[in-house]
Amino acid sequence: MTVIPPEGVGLAGLRTAARDCRGCELWEPATQTVFGAGPETARLVFVGEQPGDQEDRRGEPFVGPAGRLLDRALTDAGIDRADTYVTNAVKHFRFRPTPKRRLHQSPGSEHIAACRPWLDAELALLMPEIVVCLGAVAAKALISPSFRITADRGRLLPRPSTLSEDEAGVQQTWLLATTHPSAILRTPDEERPAAYDALVADLAVAASVLA
Ligand code: SF4
Repeated sequence: MTVIPPEGVGLAGLRTAARDCRGCELWEPATQTVFGAGPETARLVFVGEQPGDQEDRRGEPFVGPAGRLLDRALTDAGIDRADTYVTNAVKHFRFRPTPKRRLHQSPGSEHIAACRPWLDAELALLMPEIVVCLGAVAAKALISPSFRITADRGRLLPRPSTLSEDEAGVQQTWLLATTHPSAILRTPDEERPAAYDALVADLAVAASVLA
């Protein structure tokens, strides 16, 4: 079923509509839709891959270990959490059940494409000054299929506008990609401090847009 988000309903209306989404098969085994969260006035939007186990259970994005790491990095980069909105390219948790736990499975391109209208609707409403892609899934979806986080992270890229000049105003908006916080959690202990510092450095570039 093609996703067609309702118009003129604001973020709260989108969130309510997304609860019943059947745009792909991921809704069925998951607990609930995990829509984006944050103020409608947010100037910076983070786009991750998909909710994780804890997010799926609680219905909020970035509330698990990766979210806590992101919160710490935001503080270290001088970004006010109140200026940010967090969401994911795919709004249901894709996993493989095992006897002990639900194992994360990356979403397929079909899930990312099916869910894209929700992300586009969020971005159209928020009109952020900068969109920060967390990890390769979001970067490939929003920047380019050939985007490589290792080579191209931390750079400000002009964000193409889908709005007319009148609607968009004269302000340039930006895209930037960095590593997903969950990748830092999976980094070997001895390399983790450097990986964390690199995330903070990328976020500081994003912060410069808001200054
Ligand atoms: S992952 Fe996205 S498109 Fe698929 S059912 Fe969930 S909200 Fe709908």
